[in-house]
Amino acid sequence: MAHKFVDNYRERGARKKLVEILGDRGIQDKNVLKAIAKVPRHYFFDETFWIQAYKDIAFPIGDGQTISQPYTVAYQTELLHIKRGDKVLEIGTGSGYQTCILLELGAQVYTIERKENLFNRTIQVLPHMGYHPEFFCGDGSKGILEHAPYDKILVTAGAPFVPEILLKQLKIGGVLVIPVGDENAQKMVTVLRVSETDYEKFELDTFRFVPLVGDQAW
Ligand code: SAM
Repeated sequence: MAHKFVDNYRERGARKKLVEILGDRGIQDKNVLKAIAKVPRHYFFDETFWIQAYKDIAFPIGDGQTISQPYTVAYQTELLHIKRGDKVLEIGTGSGYQTCILLELGAQVYTIERKENLFNRTIQVLPHMGYHPEFFCGDGSKGILEHAPYDKILVTAGAPFVPEILLKQLKIGGVLVIPVGDENAQKMVTVLRVSETDYEKFELDTFRFVPLVGDQAW
């Protein structure tokens, strides 16, 4: 992706419209909407496709993967209730767009991607944009034990079940957001760790993600 990193009134205007669309679709968290308004999503697209960047659609990023639909990014982020300084594990870096949204909200982000090509791209693009998460390449379905526990864990690919190993890496009071289902459709699931041994699980709307592939996944 050869970028000129141009962000002028045209792109900012398109972002503003996108924020309106997300508000109309039910996203209410003002900080999440502010972050969407700030992060230049077109930087994650080849220049030929910039026109697609502010439509509320997922888009191919190579290697059979996608940059998530803005609504999905906003929806998952809203569920996390990010507080400044939260330590967040993101599983499935993909383009890195969601990572930037989490960083804009003041989170300290650990992000892991299993596809080497995508990892190699994000470690270049994000710092160039001024975003500095901790990057990892590997199977995130097992979490990253060395850096646990986390305030929040976000999975951005569809899992067949909630990996127990991820629950164990949450702080007490911590939240996991993960889409769970089959290859065609997944329910958004949130799990709150209420104590050392107890968890509360909630099932929400249906989405369609690319699969989470790994030891504790497909
Ligand atoms: N939020 C990202 C974005 O906006 O670009 C979404 C990326 S995509 C929907 C999901 C990503 O999860 C893909 O890049 C895929 O390679 C990655 N993935 C799948 N299984 C994984 C695993 N076990 N560990 C880490 N990443 C994984």
